[in-house]
Order: sequence, then structure tokens, then C-alpha cells
Amino acid sequence: MSRPLVTVVGAGQVGATTAQRIGEAGLADVALIDIVEGLPQGKSLDLAEAAPILGADARFIGSNDYTAMRGSEVVVVTAGLARKPGMSREDLLQKNAAIVGGIADRIAEEAPEATVIVVSNPLDVMTWLMHRRTRFPKRRVIGMAGVLDSARFSAFIGMELGVSVKDIRAMVLGGHGDQMVPLPRFTTVAGVPVTELIPAKRLDEIVQRTRDGGAEIVAMLKTGSAFYAPSAAAAAMVAAVLRDEKRVLPVCALLEGEYGLSGVFVGVPARLGRAGIEAIIELKLTETESAALRRSAESVRSNCALLEKSATSGG
Ligand code: NAD
Repeated sequence: MSRPLVTVVGAGQVGATTAQRIGEAGLADVALIDIVEGLPQGKSLDLAEAAPILGADARFIGSNDYTAMRGSEVVVVTAGLARKPGMSREDLLQKNAAIVGGIADRIAEEAPEATVIVVSNPLDVMTWLMHRRTRFPKRRVIGMAGVLDSARFSAFIGMELGVSVKDIRAMVLGGHGDQMVPLPRFTTVAGVPVTELIPAKRLDEIVQRTRDGGAEIVAMLKTGSAFYAPSAAAAAMVAAVLRDEKRVLPVCALLEGEYGLSGVFVGVPARLGRAGIEAIIELKLTETESAALRRSAESVRSNCALLEKSATSGG
């Protein structure tokens, strides 16, 4: 039986590490695509040469040609620029939209049956754009943010309580970044709500650290952003789809009435399986929690409108 093919677009820090995790776990053969000549080829060859040591049989194919994604069951999009000094968020939005929009068109041509997992930032807007440009059914366009954000929340809770991360289940909703909505009420250690284990003031600090999780790492690395945890999150989502795992994970999904929101991509818990997003799970939120989710969704919506406006004005 042949292995499935997964394509990772963008052979940078997140993309190459995602390819490594997928191949080395034996999940699929991996096509790694980038616009920089030699980069995906070099990294793929290096990964293929590691495989005999690890006993991993996956094939790694590096290419600058999008036709390499033909036949992919899942495409992970990690291509994009990071914000440079002096660049506004809006500039970054426009530049990454041009990159991700172009890639979406190629995915629609070369891998029309694939499930797409978007990683590029600003995440929620790029996921919206991917859906719009590919015209894929909503269940096959998924953004990665909540799995990473909730892993960060879990890691900090584990450090605080000195317990195994295996026993922690964290829940984070909303947009990626400043607008995320960590939900301590639904975050448990061996079934016990974390609100009963950590005093409220300390928990607020941990929630804030989770919100700032990306920036904390950028400040340390200085020349790049996090990629080990982001790639682990993307690979876990790929596994859930390829293996039809039916995992309930927080993902960026198109809402059409759920949580009282419509026509917006935002982070919510969903069941992931072979068909992609198989169901969105609606949690009963308090008024404060739903207000935070609404605020987060409105900020995503206004960035999408900004992109739409510049597209129609030719800017
Ligand atoms: P990176 O700069 O290391 O890699 C980006 C790669 O994209 C580069 O190799 C570049 O050549 C490539 N690229 C640019 N345009 C392309 C195109 N048209 N086709 C193919 N490849 C193209 O960056 P990184 O650290 O790997 O981060 C990648 C993206 O993921 C960024 O947008 C980053 O903000 C985002 N990110 C998101 C999350 C999340 O939680 N969603 C977490 C971490 C990073």
C-alpha cells in the first residue's frame, strides 16, 4: 500500500520542521515546496538522509514547482514573511495575502481534493483568504492556532503545578495572538478545573503569558519566531485528518451561526477527521467569555474587510 502524500508549502523554520515531524512519524510522504531555489531540495535531501538512522521510510521530495503537490491529501501552508522592523501589521497583511492568495490558486489547480491547513500569519485572515480563493468546502480549510495556543497554556500550567502535561487539557478559543480567549473554566488537570488548583490572580498571569507566548519567544530568538511547537501543532492536525482520528481540537474554522457568529473564521473546538472539520463543538460560554469571542471575531472580520477593500480598489 502506498503512503499518502502531504505537501508543506514554505520550507522555512515552521515548514521544514513540520515536514520532518510528518515524515519521521511515518504519517505520509512529504513534498516540501518553496520559492527559494535549492532550499526545499536541500532540506528534503537532508531529511531523507536522516531517515535510515531513524528507520523512517517516508519519501521527502523538495521542489520549487507547485505540481509536486499533485495527489496530496493534505496541504500545510507555512509560506509567508515575518514582520520586519518598521513594517506595520497592515503591510504584513497585504504582503502575506499576496503570497497565500497565489498559493491558494495553485492548490485549487493541483490538489483540488486536499484538506488545507493554514499556518501563515495573520492566521485567521489567511485562513479566510484560503477558503475564498480555493472555493473549497469549509470543512477542508482549517487554520492552525488553537492547538499551539492551548499547548502553550498547558505547558505553563504544567510548570506551575509540577504535573505531567499528559494530564492537562487546555482550551483556548478566538483569534490567534492578542485576541485569543483562553478558557480556564474548561481547562482541567486530570479532570479537575484549573480554577480550583491555581489562585485567580496567578491564573490571570498565566493566561496573559499564553496570549504573549509568540512574542516571548521572538524576544529571545531575535531573528525568528517559534517553530518547534507550531510544527508539532500542525503535524498533530495532519495526523487527525489522515488517520481519521476524530480528535476534538481547537482550530480556526468558518462559523455559520455557531456561537452566534456568521461568515467569520475564528478559533473554536472542532472534531477533526478524514473529512476535515466534521463538527464544530459549541461550548456554553458565560456572557464575559462570549463577549471576548465576539470581540476577537470582530477584529478578524475588520482585517478581512481591509483586504477586501484594497483588492477592490486595486491596492
Ligand atoms: P520562515 O521565514 O522561516 O519561512 C517562510 C518560508 O516561506 C521561506 O522559506 C520563504 O522562502 C517561503 N515563501 C515565501 N513566499 C513563498 C511562496 N510564494 N511559495 C512558497 N514559499 C514561499 O518563517 P517561519 O518561521 O517558518 O513562519 C512561517 C509563517 O508561519 C509566518 O507567517 C509565521 O508568522 C507563521 N506562524 C504561524 C503560527 C501559528 O500559530 N499559526 C506559528 C508560528 C509561525
